[in-house]
Amino acid sequence: MGSTALNLELLRQEVPSGVEIVAVSKFKPMEMIREAYNAGQRLFGESRVQELIPKIEELPDDIEWHFIGHLQTNKVKYIIGKTSLIESVDSERLLEVIDNESRKEGVITKVLLQAHIASEETKFGFSLEELKEYFIGRKFEKLTNTHISGLMGMASLTEDSGKVRREFASLADMMRKIKTEICPDLRDFDELSMGMSGDWPIAVEEGATMIRVGSSIFGDR
Ligand SMILES: *Cc1c(COP(=O)(O)O)cnc(C)c1O
Repeated sequence: MGSTALNLELLRQEVPSGVEIVAVSKFKPMEMIREAYNAGQRLFGESRVQELIPKIEELPDDIEWHFIGHLQTNKVKYIIGKTSLIESVDSERLLEVIDNESRKEGVITKVLLQAHIASEETKFGFSLEELKEYFIGRKFEKLTNTHISGLMGMASLTEDSGKVRREFASLADMMRKIKTEICPDLRDFDELSMGMSGDWPIAVEEGATMIRVGSSIFGDR
């Protein structure tokens, strides 16, 4: 067994069943993805459109692709109909473009709204306050071809696990508020994508349904 398959096997033993593993294959060659595929992995995450498209074309059709990076509005049209989930919707403008392109293509696109929970300035996303207002205003009702399946977030890059835990908990709490208080009628709004190689165990403890793991499977980038 190659190291990719072995790493994947070890990870699967640790991650509770019911939590989906998105194997983040950005910057990694086709052969490593094939190795993970041959070890049974079918769900992969990519963060750049120009890298995702050739991978979709070359690799097996039964792979499910999640888009997890910052998506420029002018590139949306290239990935509509090709991903099973866009996890990184970080603005209302992007949501609008995704909806328009999906309507043109005649497909329903599933997305997560990306929340800004880390203290770093560079992370994209909605603030928790903006998310709350989005759902209080029921702005999702104007979407015709986009379904919001849940929320995604990244914690601060820090050794302070208490801080990481508080950030994940704040997102899980917003998810719960939206589901139980703000929009109890929302359907299929269940996915909470949080946790990467360095912090997924904390994310899972705080309620992640989906973790995005790259370097622990494929090695450092
Ligand atoms: C790269 C990336 C990951 C995976 O990071 P690792 O630390 O390699 O596990 C997860 N989520 C997003 C949004 C990423 O860009």
